[in-house]
Amino acid sequence: MVVVEVLLVLAIMAAIGYPLFVQPKLAEGADEGDAHHKLVAQKESAFVALKDLDFDFRTGKIDEEDYARLKAQYEAEAVTVMKKLDGNTAEPQAKPAKQKVRYCATCGAQTEADDRFCSACGKPLKK
Ligand SMILES: [Zn+2]
Repeated sequence: MVVVEVLLVLAIMAAIGYPLFVQPKLAEGADEGDAHHKLVAQKESAFVALKDLDFDFRTGKIDEEDYARLKAQYEAEAVTVMKKLDGNTAEPQAKPAKQKVRYCATCGAQTEADDRFCSACGKPLKK
């Protein structure tokens, strides 16, 4: 039983410690990319919250009323963030693209001509 407890403690420590290791990486993206990364992170956390909520509801941790209320709240958050991300996309696309410069169709970040994946959001880039 002691082994199980130790593993549990390690798992909890890993779960708590993980964001601490990930955070500095996100913070490295300077200036323009920073706001974008923040939005992407917000969008992802809203989706994670929705997933957790679904799980809690299915496992009976929360009742239907709370589920509906929280779901609406998280969805509104996700929509708000996605609208902001869309706004970011619209701006660079309006500028005339130079030969070697392209913009990610997903997030609007500037990419190199020979990049296969967006350095900001990681989505594959269309040729
Ligand atoms: Zn992108």
